[in-house]
Amino acid sequence: MRYEDYMGNVARLAVELVNADGEGELSEATDLMFAEHHVERPAWPELTALLPPLREAVAAVAEGGHLGPVNRLLTRFPPRLHVSDHDGPGTAHLHYAPDGEPALRWLGRTCAAALAQIACGTPEVTIGRCRAAGCPRFFVDQSRNRSRRFCGNTCASRTTVAAHRARQRR
Ligand SMILES: [Zn+2]
Ligand SMILES: [Zn+2]
Repeated sequence: MRYEDYMGNVARLAVELVNADGEGELSEATDLMFAEHHVERPAWPELTALLPPLREAVAAVAEGGHLGPVNRLLTRFPPRLHVSDHDGPGTAHLHYAPDGEPALRWLGRTCAAALAQIACGTPEVTIGRCRAAGCPRFFVDQSRNRSRRFCGNTCASRTTVAAHRARQRR
């Protein structure tokens, strides 16, 4: 796993938690992140202390505004850096929390560190907010020209159809 892929994975993890907002199943990719780092998969109630500050931090990064929420997340869940190559030699990447930590702390530290780096312009990853009317979801953009605008196909086609109808009305 290349370093920027790891950043992308952590960014997607943070966005997934915020978008799900305490409901539903987490993705297989997220389960894999937990398994690789020996973190026990959490139930949503364990994460109630994380979701509101995480949402604020993700929103701050997506909107490029005031970064106080990112710093608050860092203060609350201070990252603990170490280098790991658990996928074999040549796969070194930074870990922001010790393997095997309780999920709340592991997620808090890991997401805080990744969001801080993305806020500072880590080149391979950006986070955006869906442009579809009324959609509160965020997305991770790793496209070459950073052209992504929607959280998924549903919002993209909904917006296209709405724009088409508006043109027809005129
Ligand atoms: Zn790792
Ligand atoms: Zn959307």
